[in-house]
Order: sequence, then C-alpha cells, then structure tokens
Amino acid sequence: MSTKKSCTIPFKIPKRFMLGGTVYDVVIKSIPEDVSANAELGCYDFLTNTIELYRYNNISKQCLEQSFLHELTHAIFCHINDKESYDNETKVDMFSHHLYEFLKTMEV
Ligand SMILES: [Zn+2]
Repeated sequence: MSTKKSCTIPFKIPKRFMLGGTVYDVVIKSIPEDVSANAELGCYDFLTNTIELYRYNNISKQCLEQSFLHELTHAIFCHINDKESYDNETKVDMFSHHLYEFLKTMEV
C-alpha cells in the first residue's frame, strides 16, 4: 500500500459562477408533489442566466449534482454558440456524465 497521500476535491453545486465573463446563478427549488414523474430535474434559462434544479423528494445528492452538470453543459454550449450541441440531449448527457466522473475521481 502506498504511503503517498492523495485527496479528492469534493464537488459542490455552486450558488453562482461565471462563464466567459457572464454571471450565472444556481437556484435549488422545491417542486409541487403533483409534478409528473417524467418531469425535468432542472432547467437552464438563457434569458436570466439561471440554472434551476428541482429538489424532488428523496432525490440523491449524486442525482442533483449530475443534474447541475447537465444544465451547466447546456449553458456552456449556449455560451459558445453551439446550437446543435445545445439541443442534443444525448450529447449533453454524455458530456456531463464524463465531467461528473472526472470531478469525482480526480486525485490532486
Ligand atoms: Zn437537457
């Protein structure tokens, strides 16, 4: 066993961040219980530069973090004017899942 110490940086959902000089806010909201089970876990509003995440009952921390990264990826594609990628949910999901894995497994 190695005695070399490594540590992982705990990833936390930010309240606010910047992309390309623009400030983005993150809001975690409760949602009414009658919202359908297929409802989105979050949304990105490019008009207000806000990412909203919905705190469903029993939603896991991991699920909330992944939802944040999914919406962040939409925001980045929007910010760099890549409309094809912005609208491509499969690409957004794949990109954000890889980003999540990176953030959760990196050692510094
Ligand atoms: Zn999406």
